[in-house]
Amino acid sequence: MRHDIIVAGAGLVGCAIVRALQQAGFDAALVERGGAPRPFDPAMDDLRVYALSPASIRWLQALGVWQQVDGWREGPYQAMKVWSEEPSRALGFDAADLRLPALGSIVENQLLQWALWRQLDPARLHTGAAVEELALDEKGAQLRLADGRRLECRVLVAADGVDSRLRGMAGIDTVGWSYEQRAIVAHVQTAKPHGQVALQRFLKTGPLAFLPLGDGRSSIVWSSTEAERLLGLDDAAFLAELAGAIQYERGAITGTTARASFPLRLNHARDYVRDSFALAGDAAHSVHPLAGQGVNLGFSDAAALVSVLTETRDAGRDYGSLRCLKRYERARKAANLDMLAVTDGLSRAFDLDLPGWAPLRDLGMQAVQRLQPLKTLLARQAAGL
Ligand SMILES: Cc1cc2nc3c(=O)[nH]c(=O)nc-3n(C[C@H](O)[C@H](O)[C@H](O)COP(=O)(O)OP(=O)(O)OC[C@H]3O[C@@H](n4cnc5c(N)ncnc54)[C@H](O)[C@@H]3O)c2cc1C
Repeated sequence: MRHDIIVAGAGLVGCAIVRALQQAGFDAALVERGGAPRPFDPAMDDLRVYALSPASIRWLQALGVWQQVDGWREGPYQAMKVWSEEPSRALGFDAADLRLPALGSIVENQLLQWALWRQLDPARLHTGAAVEELALDEKGAQLRLADGRRLECRVLVAADGVDSRLRGMAGIDTVGWSYEQRAIVAHVQTAKPHGQVALQRFLKTGPLAFLPLGDGRSSIVWSSTEAERLLGLDDAAFLAELAGAIQYERGAITGTTARASFPLRLNHARDYVRDSFALAGDAAHSVHPLAGQGVNLGFSDAAALVSVLTETRDAGRDYGSLRCLKRYERARKAANLDMLAVTDGLSRAFDLDLPGWAPLRDLGMQAVQRLQPLKTLLARQAAGL
C-alpha cells in the first residue's frame, strides 16, 4: 500500500502530525505497534499529565482537537511559583505579566490522546504491528511490518518514542545519559486549594512540582535521587514527607492515588533527517520533565515539519528531498538543544555542594525576580511565544 507520508508511532506527537497532514490534504497514514488508545473514561485517573503551553494549545485548536478536550478535566493555571530554600523568596510567573488568559493548561495524557485519535481518518490507520524493516533512498521509504504487511511512502516520519527503533534503522546516533533521579507521579488532595497556581521547588535530591488539576486536586511530579525509598513508604508517611518537601505551601496533603514512577533520561539525536526520513518528538529528543516541556517541544516539531512539507509541496517541489527536510531540522534543532541545556543545567544546579554556591544561586533567582524584562523573557520562552 502506498501513501504520501507515513508516521510511525501513535503517541501524542505522531497522532498530531498525521492529523495536521491530513488537514493539509496529504494522504498521510499512521503505523502503531499497539492498538487504538482506550476511550477516555472520566472515572479513571491518568497519572501522566502534561503542562501544555499556550502555543501548543493554539496549535491543537487549529487542528480541531482542543475543542474535544476543553471543558473535561483540563485545568488552566494562572501563575507559577519557583523556589529552592524559602517559599517567601520564590520566583513568581503570572499570566497577567504576559497578557495571557493562562500560563498553560494541565491535561491528562489519555484525554488528549483520545481527542487526537478521534480526528484521524480510520481508513489510514495501520495498528497492531511494529515496523520491522525499513529501506530508505532519495525516492522514498519502504516498510515491512511485523505481520508481513508492506507499505511505501515518499516520507517516513519516526515518532516512535525515546527508544526509537526507526532512528537506529535510519543509522542516526544519539547522545545522552540517564539521570540518577526517577520521577514519581500521583494525584493528591491538599488541605489548601491550589488556586490555579503551579508550584516547583528545587530540592537537593531533585525538583518537585505541584500542577493544579481541573478537579481541584494537584498532580505531583517528584524527580528524586531517593525515589526508591519514597516509593517504599506507606501512604501516610509518603504524604507527610511530601507536605514537608513542598514546605506546607498547600497545607496538609489529605489523600492520594496510587503512585507510579518513570526513569529519566536526556537523549538527543545527532541528525533529525535523512533522505525521505524525519524524526519528531521524543524520538529526536527527550528532556528532564522539570520544565514540563517534553510534549510541547514535540508539538513544535510537528508544527514545523508539517509547515515545511506543505510549503514545499505547494511550491511544486519535492517534499521528500533531503534539502526540504533539512529546513525542518534547522528550524527545530537549536530550539530543542537550548531547552535540553536549560533543563539539564537546572536539574544539576541544585545538588552542587560547592562552598558558597547555594547563597549565590538564591541571589541569582532573586535577581531574576527583580528583573522584570528577563523574567518576562523566560516566561515567554516557556509559553512558546
Ligand atoms: C514523569 C514524566 C512527566 C512528564 N511530564 C511532562 C509534562 O508535564 N509536559 C510535557 O510536555 N511532557 C512531559 N513529559 C514528557 C512526555 O511524556 C513525552 O515528551 C511525550 O510523551 C513524547 O511523546 P511522543 O509521541 O514523542 O512519544 P511516545 O509517547 O513515547 O509514543 C511513541 C509511540 O510509538 C509506538 N512505537 C514504538 N516503536 C514502534 C515501532 N517500531 N513501530 C510502530 N510504533 C512504534 C509506541 O507504541 C508509542 O505509541 C513527561 C515525561 C515523564 C517521564
